[in-house]
Amino acid sequence: MPEGLEAELYAGAAAQLVGHQIISIDVDDRCADSMQLATLIGRDIIGVKRHGKRVALVIDGAQLELYFAMTGRLIVNGVAPIPALEYGPSTERKEWDRLVMTTSKGSLRVNDPRRWARFTLDPDWSMLGIDLMADACDLQKALGEHRHRTVSVKALLLDQRVIAGLGNMLADEILFGSDIDPRRQFSSLTDDEFERLSQQISLTVSELGARGGSHKGALHPGLRTARAQCPLDGAPLQRVTLAGRTAIFCSQHQR
Ligand SMILES: [Zn+2]
Repeated sequence: MPEGLEAELYAGAAAQLVGHQIISIDVDDRCADSMQLATLIGRDIIGVKRHGKRVALVIDGAQLELYFAMTGRLIVNGVAPIPALEYGPSTERKEWDRLVMTTSKGSLRVNDPRRWARFTLDPDWSMLGIDLMADACDLQKALGEHRHRTVSVKALLLDQRVIAGLGNMLADEILFGSDIDPRRQFSSLTDDEFERLSQQISLTVSELGARGGSHKGALHPGLRTARAQCPLDGAPLQRVTLAGRTAIFCSQHQR
């Protein structure tokens, strides 16, 4: 699944269609209610919204969420803003198109081999926490409201109701950069550690955003599969399952 940084790239690409009228929508019935989506034909795309990992087209009087799941890709005017997902296919087939929207000046497609992509009219985002690209002070304040929580630090970072948009790779990278063991209870962090962690979120998000994605960090995907060593100190990297995801961390400098 795209993390917040990838969703931002998608939102930026979809913005090319703002100001254009929807001419046709062809959708896989297993991914959306095609009758409902047909009501959008003839209306104008007036904006694009992103919050966390979620992206929606703002259409005169409605919003259409584009959910990409694990392997869905967005293609706008024939160009994929993210050429190949880390765990997805690098090629596409026409029969994998789950949504094809043509407008007065271009087109948008979502291509997904596994058919997990979903397109929802007027989605409810009210449960989402603060966006990962929010101001660093606001992020720290939002995180501070959870200081009593006894879940692992990694689970707290992945909780979309706390901070929306952090996925597995960004969360591992943030903990790597703040020298914190992902298994620690969130409530056990000292004031210094809490400060370091909350500042690292904005740092990691802006650094990896500038480099082009969640997979461009110190713990890049090459280190996630092999028996790898910490790029900082050479200690063995460890992996454990936390909140249902594989966490990778340094056995030496993350405490
Ligand atoms: Zn290390």
